[in-house]
Amino acid sequence: MQTVDDFNFKNEKALIRVDFNVPLDASFNITDDSRITATVPTIKKILDDGGSCILMSHLGRPKEGPAEKYSLKHIVKRVSERTGAKVHFAADCIGEEAARMASELQPGEILLLENLRFYKEEEKGDPAFAEKLSKYGTFYVNDAFGTAHRAHASTAIIARFFKGKKCFGYVMANEIANARKVLNNPARPFTAIVGGAKVSDKLLIIENLMNLADNIIIGGGMSYTFAKAMGGKIGNSLCEDDRMPLTLELMEKAKAKGVRLLLPEDSKVADQFNNDAKTAIEKNSEISEGYMGLDIGPEAIKKFTEVIAASKTVLWNGPMGVFEMSNFEEGTRSVAQAVAAVSEKGGFSLIGGGDSAAAIHKFNLADKVSYVSTGGGALLEYFEGKELPGVKAVME
Ligand code: AMP
Repeated sequence: MQTVDDFNFKNEKALIRVDFNVPLDASFNITDDSRITATVPTIKKILDDGGSCILMSHLGRPKEGPAEKYSLKHIVKRVSERTGAKVHFAADCIGEEAARMASELQPGEILLLENLRFYKEEEKGDPAFAEKLSKYGTFYVNDAFGTAHRAHASTAIIARFFKGKKCFGYVMANEIANARKVLNNPARPFTAIVGGAKVSDKLLIIENLMNLADNIIIGGGMSYTFAKAMGGKIGNSLCEDDRMPLTLELMEKAKAKGVRLLLPEDSKVADQFNNDAKTAIEKNSEISEGYMGLDIGPEAIKKFTEVIAASKTVLWNGPMGVFEMSNFEEGTRSVAQAVAAVSEKGGFSLIGGGDSAAAIHKFNLADKVSYVSTGGGALLEYFEGKELPGVKAVME
């Protein structure tokens, strides 16, 4: 796997796919710039070598061409502040103006291109569009793990125009290295914790984890589909009836493979989807009419945290309950603490982006776990056993 450390960028114009899909408020102020700061080391390495950087990104999901609220012009100042470099902005990512700005770019300078998704060709993976972008630079760097599972023009297709002159930035290299620590020869016991709302989103990952993990813990809304499939009463809890047969199949598969599949014994249930709802602790198989499980219960917490504590490798994707509400955060918090304790004892814990990353930050445990991935969807697909187009294209 070649990274920016394997090359000298003197006089190179590095075309870098970054993930600057940062949240903006109604006045276009950046509310969290961690995606920008994450890429600064990659940019600095290239500038320090005597090269220049042409940054390409998407922002949000523009539907029909350019839109003010999705313009990357709102982040130019912050990119300049964080990198300490002069940042030019091309108000259209394609065309003569962008081409001229790229050709006039001096070593030590940055050119940021306007949102790639203002062109439909980006998400379609259009080769002609990718080729136009490729002309701006002499070298291709992919540092956008969040879009590595997409075969878009700037994330994958463009790489074919840079034979021998392409590599990963530090963000990508770190993400891949950490995922591989879990995928290839994890220290055992290896426990995977899968939670979140829908079982349908996580079926493939659970299936693939059967080939890797010793224990698979299932929590959150998705666990009630399993409970109902086993004949339990789940009240108003989340359920995907059409997936019930598949949950039974998964349980059979786990048994056949000798993988321990743990489901919550009990839940904290509520009479409304509301932090101030009336609550009770009930068995997952006997949830009262009119009540719904919104967090795992004390018995489940005890069992899950014991299994996690005995593990040497942990992968966690998806919360154990509606952790956004304080009365239903206990299960997710306990699991987060148990996961952090694994790392403190010298084990390895990988937190898969999205809601588990949000939970780890909420409980101030981000610096206690081994690695918090920035790419929810991309990490999930990696663990589903799929090849990520953005990774493959750079390795070819
Ligand atoms: P996902 O995006 O599939 O990982 O799901 C995360 C979301 O699932 C979070 O917003 C949680 O609030 C929600 N969630 C977790 N457990 C439950 C539950 N028991 N009932 C309803 N929603 C839940």
